[in-house]
Amino acid sequence: MCRSGVINFNWIVCDIMSNFVKCRICHKKIDKSTAYNPKPRMYYCSKDEYDASRVKKTPQSDDNKQLVAYIASIYGADMNYPFILNQLKYLRKTYNYKNKGMLLTLQYVQNVKHEKIDTRYGVSHVITRFYINAKKYYIKNMEQKKKILEFNFKDECSTITVNQGSNKKLKNKIKAEEF
Ligand SMILES: [Zn+2]
Repeated sequence: MCRSGVINFNWIVCDIMSNFVKCRICHKKIDKSTAYNPKPRMYYCSKDEYDASRVKKTPQSDDNKQLVAYIASIYGADMNYPFILNQLKYLRKTYNYKNKGMLLTLQYVQNVKHEKIDTRYGVSHVITRFYINAKKYYIKNMEQKKKILEFNFKDECSTITVNQGSNKKLKNKIKAEEF
């Protein structure tokens, strides 16, 4: 009598649990019978939520693809995709990191710092450790490139003015054309 009561109870728990599924987008527990279910085993709170998520993903997809492909190239064949995608999602949500920024950070670690990326724990520890420095590096690099361009520009300008002698009118004319 006691035993059958336990069994009955387990059956009831089982039955209750099977009526609930997790929404693929917001991870809320939802009633299976009322959930939006476009494909087998894919449940969503509503069709609207499903449609909205598909629209939102499109503009980011190129940078995201590049980033995931780059991480896959570090890993080789044995990358755990769900694990990595979850890490990237967490970094975007928690630190507001951009896909492009994370890609540049990993490239900075490999190509500038020449550090080997230890992939045993995924990539989030590497990205959080180097993101700020990578950003600084790229900004500084861009400023330097700009300075080099400016330097060449001024250099040429002074060569011209020297060659043209001390003709003030001509010097002014060249300057005006440059701006
Ligand atoms: Zn949902």
